Amino acid sequence: MRKLALICALLWPLLWWPSIVLGQPYGSSLPGPGPQSVDAAYDGVVSCFRCAVTPTPENRARCQQEGHQPLLRRSEGHTHTLIGSINKLTAQLASDELHGKSVHIKGIYYPKTNHILVSEVSLRERGLR
Ligand SMILES: [Zn+2]
Repeated sequence: MRKLALICALLWPLLWWPSIVLGQPYGSSLPGPGPQSVDAAYDGVVSCFRCAVTPTPENRARCQQEGHQPLLRRSEGHTHTLIGSINKLTAQLASDELHGKSVHIKGIYYPKTNHILVSEVSLRERGLR
């Protein structure tokens, strides 16, 4: 029995070493030192996690009272949650002013959480639609 335990203890690292050695490149899904955020500049349409994704009367009423929960739908098909880097931008992103509009957004994109911390937002002259 002790011999079996010893064999297991010796074989265990051997079974794992390929994944330890090969599984560490930057950008892999394994936790490790990789880019946690990237500067981003995206075009897209501002949508809402509440009233656009699930447009129930309750959700529309809540958005009217509290403002929208802003998302950016990019033409490439990606959707990101938007967070303002300052209160003024947070309020602007949640307002009807930008809801459903084509915008250009600059900020910091966090790949692991899919959030964009928005530092700049501007309406685009020509829409994507
Ligand atoms: Zn909404």
